[in-house]
Amino acid sequence: MGSGPNGLAAAVTLAQAGAQVLVLEAMDTLGGGVRTEELTLPGFAHDVCSGAHPMGILSPYLSTLPLAEHGLEWIRPPASVAHPLDDGPAVMLLRSVEETAGGLGDDGARYRRLVAPFVGKARSLLADALGPLGIPRHPLLMARFGLLGLRSAEGVARRFAGVRARALLAGCAAHSILPLSRMLSGAVGLMFLVTGHVEEWPVARGGSAAIARALAGYLASLGGRIETGRRVTSLTDLPPSRVVLFDTSPAQLADIGAPVLPARYLRRLRRYRYGPGVFKMDWALDGPIPWRDPRCLEASTVHLGGTFEEIAAAEAAVWRGEHPERPFVLVVQQSQHDPSRAPPGKHTGYAYCHVPAGSKVDLTETVERQIERFAPGFRDRILARRAMGPADLERHNPNNVGGAITGGVADLGQLFFRPVARWDPYATPNRRIFLCSASTPPGGGVHGMCGHHAARSALRRLKRHPIAPLA
Ligand SMILES: Cc1cc2nc3c(=O)[nH]c(=O)nc-3n(C[C@H](O)[C@H](O)[C@H](O)COP(=O)(O)OP(=O)(O)OC[C@H]3O[C@@H](n4cnc5c(N)ncnc54)[C@H](O)[C@@H]3O)c2cc1C
Repeated sequence: MGSGPNGLAAAVTLAQAGAQVLVLEAMDTLGGGVRTEELTLPGFAHDVCSGAHPMGILSPYLSTLPLAEHGLEWIRPPASVAHPLDDGPAVMLLRSVEETAGGLGDDGARYRRLVAPFVGKARSLLADALGPLGIPRHPLLMARFGLLGLRSAEGVARRFAGVRARALLAGCAAHSILPLSRMLSGAVGLMFLVTGHVEEWPVARGGSAAIARALAGYLASLGGRIETGRRVTSLTDLPPSRVVLFDTSPAQLADIGAPVLPARYLRRLRRYRYGPGVFKMDWALDGPIPWRDPRCLEASTVHLGGTFEEIAAAEAAVWRGEHPERPFVLVVQQSQHDPSRAPPGKHTGYAYCHVPAGSKVDLTETVERQIERFAPGFRDRILARRAMGPADLERHNPNNVGGAITGGVADLGQLFFRPVARWDPYATPNRRIFLCSASTPPGGGVHGMCGHHAARSALRRLKRHPIAPLA
């Protein structure tokens, strides 16, 4: 149920094992969080949800699949991240640790010492961090990472003296959608920094939808089928099957699975925390974003918010239920690296900021002001705009509960134990039913690992206890 990257990765894993697979997708188009549409003007292809894909290109599972043969082409920008400041040149996250450190002034050597132990072994680190729960395959590396990363971003930032390194860390840590004083926000910051030294954060040629199309194409080559426009609201909507994998929120699993799941498990699913939402904007632009520092155009992703302290204050405010005047804004500039996204000479713009769950506040002016702060003249380039608040995002995809975009809060209590604390979090007390969405480990992002692990859990169970199709 559901054709997001995790639903499709689950379907492919099952089909690779020889199962007959049917994917039912509620919407008329595939992909969940990897969709591309003309949201503003004809000829402008906007990523409705995910835009930049460090976890996609580095995914231990997706990278084993022949997705290039099914049309997926990653476009690597010259830089992963640009982080402009009010004064001085933008901080750049580049593939080279040396060059990145070179832009951090006196903190360069400290930065090198922070990331270097992990960069050479990044794929092993990712295999463990995104792998199934259990004993890591590289325990010493994971222990070293864990000791650092379990700390808050504030704790990790203390090793830096200057504004530039602290700001770069803050932008990467804010992807956690946690207050930067909260444990694990440091791990997310460190992980994103390390990924930038292994692969430039890419965009998908033609749009993120190419990821879903490639997965669907490969699934079809294995004999799997997909039906769109098939919203499942009850178990009676499902055809006979041995197992059902839900690429949904725990809330939908509880609603649809209520007749066959025990009350205690349902109560635990309903206590799941989704966390803040986002306010997303897309623009058709008459030219590139006129950054004060033109080097920002080299990056796929631009982090706006200024200093560590300012970003930390903005994220903390969101957790208090407030709308910061100067939010942390994450910009992706797909057309800068993929000209197929917009007519010649024109560009697409993409940005979002975090907001309290379910916020109804229109932040168009706030987001554009924050971009204008680092790119004076941005507003003059706008040909058309489209804004989507939490309610729009949830209407588009019920998995975005309250506008939450990564399947729920990923703090210590819920990153490893999602949706509930169980040895096998993908399995439910009903032996036919599994959860495979980003609300299972390793959580949000386009990497397909939740789906892959859930499918392996289902395959293990089918092997141990052959289950007859449910008529
Ligand atoms: C605005 C936004 C920006 C993001 N940016 C990035 C980014 O830059 N990089 C990144 O890696 N990640 C990003 N993400 C997160 C990423 O998109 C998600 O973590 C990822 O898509 C989760 O995949 P999934 O398969 O678990 O679920 P989803 O992608 O949410 O897919 C779930 C699918 O299930 C379908 N479905 C739900 N209920 C039913 C039902 N009852 N019956 C049938 N079908 C159903 C939905 O229609 C949907 O197609 C972003 C997300 C959003 C919303």
